[in-house]
Amino acid sequence: MPVVVAHADDGRRIDSQSQNSRNPFYRGRRLITIITSDDVKLGDHPKHVYIHIPFCYHKCGYCDFASLAGVDHLADRYLTALDREISTSVERRSVSTIFVGGGTPTRLSAIQLERLLDVIRRAFDLASGGEFTVEANPGTLDREKVEVLAAGGVNRISLGAQSFQKSSLKVLERDHEPDEVIRAVEWIAPRFPRWSIDLIFGVPGSTLSMWTDDLDRTLALGPSHLSCYGLVYEKGTPLWKSRREGLVSELNEDLERAMYETTIDRLAEAGLEMYEISNYARQGHESLHNLAYWANASYYGFGVGAARYVNGVRSVNTRDIMAYLNRIEAGGDATGPSETLDAESRARETAVLMLRRIKLGIDRAEFALRTGFDLDRLVGSKFEKHRRNRLVDDDGLRVRLTREGIFLADTVLADIV
Ligand code: SF4
Repeated sequence: MPVVVAHADDGRRIDSQSQNSRNPFYRGRRLITIITSDDVKLGDHPKHVYIHIPFCYHKCGYCDFASLAGVDHLADRYLTALDREISTSVERRSVSTIFVGGGTPTRLSAIQLERLLDVIRRAFDLASGGEFTVEANPGTLDREKVEVLAAGGVNRISLGAQSFQKSSLKVLERDHEPDEVIRAVEWIAPRFPRWSIDLIFGVPGSTLSMWTDDLDRTLALGPSHLSCYGLVYEKGTPLWKSRREGLVSELNEDLERAMYETTIDRLAEAGLEMYEISNYARQGHESLHNLAYWANASYYGFGVGAARYVNGVRSVNTRDIMAYLNRIEAGGDATGPSETLDAESRARETAVLMLRRIKLGIDRAEFALRTGFDLDRLVGSKFEKHRRNRLVDDDGLRVRLTREGIFLADTVLADIV
């Protein structure tokens, strides 16, 4: 059952949702944060599930995810292993959010998607009001797969558009055309109450007007949620190598900041308010699953490369698909490195994650309930400097990034750990 923490005096209201997390906040009401009690106590089973599908048509140049091209022939074997991993790890239980990410889940055939949804349905019962998200890529979606997902209980789609500029799609090595995004939305919008689009800004060669065009073309499609990420040159990726060899150039900081500012303002004008450093939503359309991550709630993770956080232990599965398959098929598990944080480290980590939430920030009452620590005793001195520099705002109930703090979030967050 949810625990409701309400504060009457800051003039706004926030209901919770999930991470691709959960809900609404809007101005002019009381501020309310809903905390699921199972997320609060260590030892209670997680209410959030992540399932990883690693298959992709092609490896994009910037991608550092556990994704693989050219191994589609392993998909049925992978689903069997996934079924085994899940069924031997947890007994059937009720959860609040399920997120199927990748990779490209919609790279699976319609029949394989049905199989995947059946595996999930047998293991987890989605609580009333729960969120079930599947990531989709425009080039791999079709009407039949959309119907399979909708019929299988999925109630939210996250569509990886990234850009509407042909030149940016080429630099990113994406395998779809801008028109395919529009066609995918025509299938998704009538079938799902909530859907989101992912975009990337700061692509080499892009300009502010190209980015503004991306935002406008996305808004014209009517999404209720947007994730807008600044491009990261992950070490070892082809894009990182291209930059090192001088084949592409990073945009200058001023231009990237202008793109970020434009995103915040343009989306706010369109009714999609920033609720996390990279995420924007209409009221009630925030990602419940991601909100759970940013509250440092526990979660299960299944599949190759999947991370989990259960009973205070963080662990991650092997990213090697053959090792994953062989280990699960041999009756073992696929867990790789794991880390158990002490209570204070967990509390600091919780503060960092919560500060990413633009509206919620770090709610002192929620923080104490979740961690057992007093926020001010733990990290109050760290905030003092940032408060003086107007990077954080503290109204006595909660600490939040200011607008300037959002642009310097990396510095502020690094300081708390
Ligand atoms: S589609 Fe996504 S997961 Fe797959 S290679 Fe491209 S960025 Fe990576």
